[in-house]
Amino acid sequence: MTEPLLSGAVIGILGGGQLGRMLSVAASRLGLRCHVYDPMPEPPAGQVAWRVTTAAWDDVAALKGFAASVDVITYEFENIPAAALDLLEAHRPVRPGRRALEVSQDRVAEKDFLSGLGLAVAPYRPVDDAAALTSALGAIGAPAILKTRRLGYDGKGQARIMAPDQADAALAAMQGAPAVLEGFIPFEREVSVIAARGLSGAVVCYDPGENVHEAGILRRTTVPATLGAGQQAEAALMAGRILNALDYIGVMGVELFVAPQGLVVNEIAPRVHNSGHWTQAGCAVDQFEQHIRAVAGWPLGDGRRHADVVMENLIGADMERLPALARESDLQIHLYGKTEVREGRKMGHVNRILRG
Ligand code: AMP
Repeated sequence: MTEPLLSGAVIGILGGGQLGRMLSVAASRLGLRCHVYDPMPEPPAGQVAWRVTTAAWDDVAALKGFAASVDVITYEFENIPAAALDLLEAHRPVRPGRRALEVSQDRVAEKDFLSGLGLAVAPYRPVDDAAALTSALGAIGAPAILKTRRLGYDGKGQARIMAPDQADAALAAMQGAPAVLEGFIPFEREVSVIAARGLSGAVVCYDPGENVHEAGILRRTTVPATLGAGQQAEAALMAGRILNALDYIGVMGVELFVAPQGLVVNEIAPRVHNSGHWTQAGCAVDQFEQHIRAVAGWPLGDGRRHADVVMENLIGADMERLPALARESDLQIHLYGKTEVREGRKMGHVNRILRG
């Protein structure tokens, strides 16, 4: 499929959370329909998508039916089981492609890939048992962070090792899962670049945002980030190098540490990213439309920022602030339609435009 998708065409989205929901809204604005696939009933994206399939990742008949009903397939999360991808790929183009998923599903493969491109990453060693952890700690030193190689998100599956005597407890926290030990980067700040690459190979970057996390979860993103012009350009070049190396199609989030030694890549997410939600208020073409444009074979928007923005996540009990937030008459509110409030659950976000 090399012709741009036109009105009525269908984009399949794997995963029906808030990212799939906002992708569906963006696609419908462009006249495209979305078919969402999610194992959980009544996913947030299901409230706005054209169709929803509720089925497991190993349901071959459901996957085939889904693929047959769509023109192209994309996803809102990176942990799609390989067997499901094999099946889907055989029927329809999957964008971004396989290599991006393989690299981002495994923290060791990710760091091997990034350092192979000449990009700085934290020192790292794979860790499968106590002996490997002892030798990794010997090489890297404390403080360090032990992380599961796969399936970690929002700071889950991570244990800090401030001194070697905490190694046993950290390993126990991995619950037997293969892990990676990362040296602790004494960063000044965390920033991320949201970048996109289209079918033609054109790359577009949004301005880096500055991220603040609380309890491992993104709390706030501020644009512009506190970065010199040189580092801002360097961040964009790093993102471009990653996208080109993966022959990537779609939007990617690249998380960076601003450290004394320069910009260090923390991780990449082969999808629209929470730290890019500010683009909804700051740019003519936001990250969701940009991703849909890329996977649908459209030209990309230019990513230019026309306002300074602070994006704040509404997490769990933050929803109690909604009545007051709703009274702020120029605040952009995005709620994900989740009816059950749980601690640590992302319920929505707000974008506040900063005026000089
Ligand atoms: P991650 O899930 O890998 O993005 O990690 C979640 C958060 O933990 C990051 O946003 C950082 O605040 C912190 N963190 C992760 N890895 C490191 C590291 N190697 N050095 C310092 N802080 C880290």
